[in-house]
Amino acid sequence: MKKLFAVLLAAAMLWGLAACGAPEKAEFSLFAMDTYMTLVAYGDEASDALTESARAINDLEQRLSRTREGSEIRAVNHSGRAAIDSETAALLTEALVFSAETDGAFDITVAPLVDLWAINSDSPHIPSQAEIDALLPLIGCDHVTVDGSAVTLDVGCAIDLGGIAKGYASDVVAEIFAEHGIKSGTVSLGGNVYVCGKRPDGKPWNVAVQDPQGDGYACMLSLTDTFAVTSGGYQRYFTAEDGTVYQHIIDPATGYPARSDLLSVTVVCPSGTRADAYSTALYVMGEEAAIRFWESQQAGDHAFEAVFVTADGRIACTPGLADQFVPQEDASYEVQLLNR
Ligand code: ADP
Ligand code: MG
Repeated sequence: MKKLFAVLLAAAMLWGLAACGAPEKAEFSLFAMDTYMTLVAYGDEASDALTESARAINDLEQRLSRTREGSEIRAVNHSGRAAIDSETAALLTEALVFSAETDGAFDITVAPLVDLWAINSDSPHIPSQAEIDALLPLIGCDHVTVDGSAVTLDVGCAIDLGGIAKGYASDVVAEIFAEHGIKSGTVSLGGNVYVCGKRPDGKPWNVAVQDPQGDGYACMLSLTDTFAVTSGGYQRYFTAEDGTVYQHIIDPATGYPARSDLLSVTVVCPSGTRADAYSTALYVMGEEAAIRFWESQQAGDHAFEAVFVTADGRIACTPGLADQFVPQEDASYEVQLLNR
């Protein structure tokens, strides 16, 4: 009875809010792409937008996963050549561009190395140098050819879209939100965040940058209508018997898990796909090269902002985020604003 009363009260409140002109709020959580996802939307079509978004995320996982039976990427990896959906082809083409731009720091052909180390699995493996050397010739985007709706891989090569799929999914959700007239909402797909418009009270959304060394957050970003994607080595890793920590982002140049002087990289830009690729790449590059890359991209269409949490205890923030940056008072990081 108490429960029924609560439900009625909630319904009355919802009706009350609607009567005052406040938009309908819908919320949805799911586990997909190996991560916990939450979506919130405000608007007359909020429920439809979330139902459609959840379906789209599941469809994308079915298409882009390399382990799922029947997925396009699995088919390509198994036979070296397959016909793929035009959207998948466009995503692969974009991934190859990111690889070229980042000088191979982001590289979807890391799959054989990801399998060798198996860091995200129940049985990770520390390979010998010989095992790594045997795979290095298979790594590099020159091994992938996308021709219309056909993709071809050189023998022994394989594709892993783990570094980009969630960011791409956030772009797809943003499109669905737009189609349903959603002007306010948040989408969190693991470390991949999309903030749609502003909060219903007209203020920007607060996006927390997780503290890579603790349970709390390192800082907050006040954001409107953009994507913020974080990559780091602090969530998916394994610790060997000798205490060495091996995290899941591979440096394609060495074949080893990246030994970054960064604990995390958060990239903020108008494309979830690009933010995802860049955050992975910048983590691999390390602070100095990452800042050089940020500078080099400032003038073009691929400009972005970033927050770097460094292993030596600093948070370095690009100047474009100065007004959005909200420090966390209790955090022990020294905050630095980079120069343009
Ligand atoms: P997460 O998936 O935890 O959000 P990332 O976006 O940084 O983190 O992607 C890491 C995943 O991408 C790895 O688990 C692996 O599947 C794949 N990957 C690892 N190293 C690279 C790399 N250098 N370039 C592209 N993808 C990578
Ligand atoms: Mg990524």
